Amino acid sequence: MARERRSARRPAAKVSRLRKKTAKVPPQQAPGPIEPVVRDGLRGTPLRDAHVQGGMVSLERWEPKLEYRWDTGVAIGRFLEGLREGKILGVRCDRCHRTVTPPRAFCEWCFKPMDAWVELADAGTINTFSICFITWDMQPLEVPQIPAVIEIDGTSPRVGFLHLIGALRAHTVDGIRKEIRVGQRVRAVWKPAAERTGAITDILHFTPA
Ligand SMILES: [Zn+2]
Repeated sequence: MARERRSARRPAAKVSRLRKKTAKVPPQQAPGPIEPVVRDGLRGTPLRDAHVQGGMVSLERWEPKLEYRWDTGVAIGRFLEGLREGKILGVRCDRCHRTVTPPRAFCEWCFKPMDAWVELADAGTINTFSICFITWDMQPLEVPQIPAVIEIDGTSPRVGFLHLIGALRAHTVDGIRKEIRVGQRVRAVWKPAAERTGAITDILHFTPA
C-alpha cells in the first residue's frame, strides 16, 4: 500500500516543481532600446520579436505574384511537337556520324551543334527491359509495368529511348519473357491524334511488332 501511495504522489510533486520553475520566468517586458553590443569580439545588434512587432525595426511585407513557365528548349520542344504529329524526330552529327533521339542541341561527343533534323521510324528494338510489380511509390501492381530502353530505327547503335512495353497477353514474369526479349522488334502505339498534347505520353507504349 505504501508503495502505491508513493507512486500516486509523484505526479503531484513534479507539477509543483514545474510551477516553481515557471514562476521564476520574468513576465513579458517592454522591448528595451535597440543597441549594438560586442560579444566575443563580434559586434551585433540583438533584436527581439517585440522590436519587430512594436514597429521599432523597419519592416516591409511583400507578397510577389510570380508565375513560371518551363521552357523545353529548342531540341526537346521540337521533339515534343513532332510527337503531337505522330513523328519521332532525331538529330544528326555529321562529324561523328551519329543520329540520336531524343534530340539535343549539340553533340556530346564533339560539342558542335547538331547538323540536321531527321524523321525516324516509330519502331525499334528492345535494348534492355525490366518487369516491375510495384510502382515507384511502392504500390503493388496486378499488371506489371515494363520500362524498356528501345533503340529507334535509324539511330546509331546504343542510343536508347526509354519508354514502356505494353499490350502483352501475359502478366507473369515467365509469360512476359516468352513474349519479349532483348533484341525484340517493337512498334509505337500512339494516342489518337485528337488526344495528343505534345508529350512523351503521346506514345502510349511500344508493343511487339
Ligand atoms: Zn559530334
